[in-house]
Formats: sequence, structure tokens, C-alpha cells
Amino acid sequence: MNDNQITGRAENLVKDFGDFRAVNQVSFTLHKGEIFGFLGPNGSGKTTTIRMMLGLLAPTQGRVEILGTEMDGQSSSILPRIGYMSQRFSLYNDLTVLQNLNYYGQVYGLDSIKRKLQVQEALAISGLSGSEHIQTKDLSGGWRQRLALSAAILHQPEVLFLDEPTAGVDPVSRRSFWDLLYTLVARGISVFITTHYMDEAEHCHRLAFIQRGKIIAQGSLKEIKQTMMPGQVLEIDTDQAGKVIRILRKAYQNGNIDYKDLELHGSLVHVITPQVQSLSRHIKKLLKADKITLNSMSVVDPTLEDVFIACMRDNVPEVHNE
Ligand code: ADP
Ligand code: MG
Repeated sequence: MNDNQITGRAENLVKDFGDFRAVNQVSFTLHKGEIFGFLGPNGSGKTTTIRMMLGLLAPTQGRVEILGTEMDGQSSSILPRIGYMSQRFSLYNDLTVLQNLNYYGQVYGLDSIKRKLQVQEALAISGLSGSEHIQTKDLSGGWRQRLALSAAILHQPEVLFLDEPTAGVDPVSRRSFWDLLYTLVARGISVFITTHYMDEAEHCHRLAFIQRGKIIAQGSLKEIKQTMMPGQVLEIDTDQAGKVIRILRKAYQNGNIDYKDLELHGSLVHVITPQVQSLSRHIKKLLKADKITLNSMSVVDPTLEDVFIACMRDNVPEVHNE
């Protein structure tokens, strides 16, 4: 359903708080019918970017356009076409599901006929039909998030900004929240979502990794894997993974082998290298000399963790070899 129509654009966004640069030259486009993910750890500049996108915070430099309109603080006419679920989205716990939705319908200025229709629709989409009269405080965290999302889309926005909507929600509810997002984008909404859960990258059509205010990789996950991975991943399955890591590090330091990265993934060793065949021969010899039993050694697809580490490597100053 992605027809490539641009619904949002950030150009070279910068935000300084005093001497501190919280957002540094951030640029991306948002397209109709897609989920664009903004992935980064706490404090990396996700909320600050969203607030600039919405015109709630003036950028130090750069510009934002939503649905063809410049977001410069004078752009209130566009606001009814935008939805926003903030990190601290507030539902009224003492109100029922229905009362909360009606309340937000009023806040958005929907007339009573439209409100009734939209509330019914929101209940149906979110799976909350039948739960109208439950008090919000009695809903589980996952259902409260669905209710919050339903409230954020009552006015049928075309572009929706979600700031860490899945933070603190259990994995099953997170999964069904994403299903709900797919329902929305299938109707042509554009969704911009921030998260610090790396596994959620899998769910986004396109994404950007943000680290200390800077986008360090951007595109579809496939594109990011292709452009950011400095080689293939050789996976070594052995019962002595710790020892294997030590042997390989030592061989690397002595100049006997070369690789881009060496990481432990649970009990598996991942070596990233552009020369997978010759390295694998070398490693076999080294491990044989040390009488290490290899269960298997094969080239595997990079995991999200491999991709993250590859993206972060060139962006972490000083300590990255430790
Ligand atoms: P995230 O949403 O990714 O956790 P934020 O955008 O909230 O990150 O914050 C990015 C950085 O900017 C953090 O270091 C935060 O402390 C800082 N920051 C955010 N808002 C302000 C502010 N109003 N004044 C000063 N520093 C701020
Ligand atoms: Mg935040």
C-alpha cells in the first residue's frame, strides 16, 4: 500500500539545549501507508525529534514539513490531520473505556454524530468492543496502550506520531499492538514510531537508527544490512565459546587472522569478515591446534544485533575496542 507519496519531511534538524546538541542534522522522509521506525537508546533524541516534527519545539536549525505544510509554529491548520501519542499519554484511569474515548472525541472537536461513529470504529479496530464499560484502571498495560492509540486516532489523522508506545508492555501485547498498526497503515495512514526495542526494527517498513542525536543508518532493514554490514557473518557453534573468543582475539592481535568484528551471541561466536572462506579455513586450523571441538561453522544471515553493532562501531569514540 506504499505509494511513495511523501507525507512528512525532516531536513537537517538540529536542536541545541544550551551547549548540548540533542539532535544533530537529522533528515528523513515519511511516506503514505508506511511505518517509519526511529530506533535508539534512551536519551538519543527521539522525543526531541518528534516534538520538532509536531511544531511543539522550535528547531535550532533545519525545517519540517508535514502534508506539504511547513511546521513553523504557525501551522495550526494542519494539526487536525496529525495524531500524536506522547510518551506520557494520559488516559483518565477513573473513567471507563467509553468515557475516555468520548472525552478525547470532544477534545478533538468532533460533533456528536461523528463522535459516536468514530468511537464505535475505534472500539472495533482496537478490539475493545464489549469492554466499553470497563474502568480504564482495570485494563492491563497492553489494553491501555490500545485504548490510548484508539484515542489518538479518533479524529482520523493522516499522519500519526507514536512516542515509545510499546515501552514497558509485555511481548505478546507488543506483537498485537504492531498488528493494530498494520491495520492502520493498510488504510493509508503514515506512522512514525519511536522505540528502544531493537527487535521492533523487524516490524518497520523503513527505519533510522539514532545514536546521540545522529542518524547512523537509514533505510529498510534489508538495505541497512546490505550497506552497513562490512562482510558476512561466520557463526561458530562450540561448547567452548569463551575459549574460542580468546584464541581468535589473540590470533588477531598477532596478525595471524583478520576480521571486522568478533562477538558472542549466547553460546555462539559470530565473526564478521569480508573474506569468509579463507578465514574459516584459518579458524579451523587454529581451533584444531588447540583441540577445540567444533559442532559446526557456517555462514549465517546477520542478526539484528550484528547489524546494530556494525552500525554503532564507526560511531562510538575511544572505547569501542574494549
Ligand atoms: P529520547 O526520547 O531518545 O530518550 P530525548 O529526545 O528525550 O531522548 O532527549 C535527548 C537528550 O536531550 C537527552 O540527553 C535529554 O536529557 C536532553 N534534553 C531533552 N529535553 C531537554 C530540555 N528541555 N533541556 C535540556 N536537555 C534536554
Ligand atoms: Mg523519549
